[in-house]
Amino acid sequence: MSRRIKEPAIDEIRTKKLGIPELLVQADCGDDFIYCAFPKANSIPLCPRCGSFDTTVHLTHTRVLRDILPDVQEPLRFIELHITCRSYQCSKCKNVFTPNYEFAWPKSRLTRRFEDFLVRESISRSLSDVSEMTNSAISSAGIKMLIDRWGQEKAGSQPPLYIGETLCLLTYQNSQTLGLLILTVDNGNIYLADVFSETGSETMRTLLRRLELGKVRQVISDLTESVSEVLAEKLPNINRLIDPGTYYDLVQEQLYELAKQETRWLPMRDKMDVIMTPRRKVLATQQYTLRQILKRRPKLARVYDVSDGLYEILSTGWSTQRLTQWAESIQKEGPELLIPIAQNLLDHATNIHHYELAGLPAMKFSSVSEQLTHYNMQLRPCSFALEKIRLMYLNKPDTIQTEDASIYRLGVPVEKVFETLRELQIEQERIYTP
Ligand SMILES: [Zn+2]
Repeated sequence: MSRRIKEPAIDEIRTKKLGIPELLVQADCGDDFIYCAFPKANSIPLCPRCGSFDTTVHLTHTRVLRDILPDVQEPLRFIELHITCRSYQCSKCKNVFTPNYEFAWPKSRLTRRFEDFLVRESISRSLSDVSEMTNSAISSAGIKMLIDRWGQEKAGSQPPLYIGETLCLLTYQNSQTLGLLILTVDNGNIYLADVFSETGSETMRTLLRRLELGKVRQVISDLTESVSEVLAEKLPNINRLIDPGTYYDLVQEQLYELAKQETRWLPMRDKMDVIMTPRRKVLATQQYTLRQILKRRPKLARVYDVSDGLYEILSTGWSTQRLTQWAESIQKEGPELLIPIAQNLLDHATNIHHYELAGLPAMKFSSVSEQLTHYNMQLRPCSFALEKIRLMYLNKPDTIQTEDASIYRLGVPVEKVFETLRELQIEQERIYTP
């Protein structure tokens, strides 16, 4: 039989304020910051090894946990719990054990609800801000570790990823490095399945090993070298599709660099926006600006025209044939700056043709990575832009779908990802506007 222990007097009001069902707050002990508590002795703990009820108290120790009071507006929301915990010994097998509680993970120094609070706050605030909120009770690095663990647990409990006939690997600019997006295409809809912070060959190999690739018939990718390299190695005979919008991005990059050099001293606001916009989309009020910029800069004007020509092809009944003609004319007549891009397009004409045969619209996939890059630039760095996205989408119920009576994870519709990022941006503007 377990020995009966005399329990101390209970402070009913503070027990209610604490709101942890497994704990009682001790009367006449602690203060507004320190809550002395002990677990309810409502059951006799059984030995986890042999299942015997014949256990006795082995040791009593105080466990200190950081906690946050629920629904309290006072400044002292953050408290410290001093819990009198007991370990037990089994009389039969001599096993010593400590019962597990719902309110905290076995080795943690924080309650679960405090961990949840930190993760939730970190989605829209920087880690140092969150750390400050807790009066530096937890360091930024501590919060980062917490989030990483939280993300891993979440990811670990997810159903397997569903990869249909089309797998899509795209890169995007993630602060200083290139990040990798794993997308799947199902019935013409694009789903974001996972995000990685880098595109190193090792990361990609690990990733592809984890995916069930048996059904994959085609891969959509951009021109990133490490992606191409690993694809050739892991899926050597797969149809590789290239969204020709990728080439528009490359041309725009060159246009941007050239414009930066040539218009450095030009006192026109928004000039860059105008230059980066295809002619058809330039507002009537800005047409004059565009003409002024291009008038005395024949080199820039030439690259602008060629870029604009590519946009026209891609946005109006594009075909591989029209694109190769565009590239061939650059090879013959320049501009020299764009010849490597034109050559690359011609080298990949087959891949572009595969894309055309699949009936996919141009610039569809290239715009996904472009938008994600955009949000990554816009959003305040919370030092884990990637994890943020991860947290947001792993946590949504619509990542789950059922097929053939088994459960698979398809990912989040990419529109929904952008919607969430837009909301996050608004939320951040709210937080950081004084
Ligand atoms: Zn036992």
